[in-house]
Amino acid sequence: MVTPVTTEVSQALKKGTVVMGGTFDPIHHGHLRSAVDILDCFQFETLRLIPCFQPVHKGEPTVSAEQRLKMVELGIAADSRLSVDAREILRAGPSYTFETLVELRAELGQEEPLIMVVGMDSFLSLPTWARWQDLLSVAHILVISRPGWEPDFISTLESFYEKHRAESATELQCAPAGKIWMQSFTPLAISSSQVRNLCREKASIAYLVPETIQRFIEAHSLYK
Ligand code: ATP
Repeated sequence: MVTPVTTEVSQALKKGTVVMGGTFDPIHHGHLRSAVDILDCFQFETLRLIPCFQPVHKGEPTVSAEQRLKMVELGIAADSRLSVDAREILRAGPSYTFETLVELRAELGQEEPLIMVVGMDSFLSLPTWARWQDLLSVAHILVISRPGWEPDFISTLESFYEKHRAESATELQCAPAGKIWMQSFTPLAISSSQVRNLCREKASIAYLVPETIQRFIEAHSLYK
């Protein structure tokens, strides 16, 4: 069964800590436009990007954690509402999202809404994540659409979603954690693997990543 994703602009939420994890190998306009869409749509003040050190569900990143972190810093520089949180890189080892959210919850206290953003592709893989059913005990999950990925869930994820889905986005403000909301934004079919492949083929990556990232990749001969 395909579950509908909300496309209308939702009500302002404003309150809450919003985090978006990723490998960012490299960060691209799909990540950045999604972050800006979330901020504008829900009127959150800030959104933190959390680059992982070692992804648990993908192969090793192509470039170092420091270089990926640097590219995130360059990518977010144009919008002061975006920030980077390097905790997973500083922690090193496999980057378990549950561990990160527990750390954040301890810092934020028990009342503040904590909202974890994931693209539809990541949400579909949720049942393979460590302690996935416990994620909602510490955070809400905001699932954003991604071209090429439909909300066509396997049965365990479908029942998890049905049990925890919010009736409206405003429910993400009423509790610190525990709800899932799906929202559709500007569809940008950009991926880091596409950017890496284009670099390997010596093709242009213009307009897929910010110019600063393009220059950084060229200057450090990354993704050859
Ligand atoms: P790769 O191609 O190497 O798998 P990626 O493009 O998926 O990488 P990640 O850094 O792994 O990039 O993604 C971090 C988060 O951003 C994930 O939750 C992912 O679903 C989401 N995301 C990435 N690209 C987009 C996009 N174009 N639109 C919406 N969400 C996206």
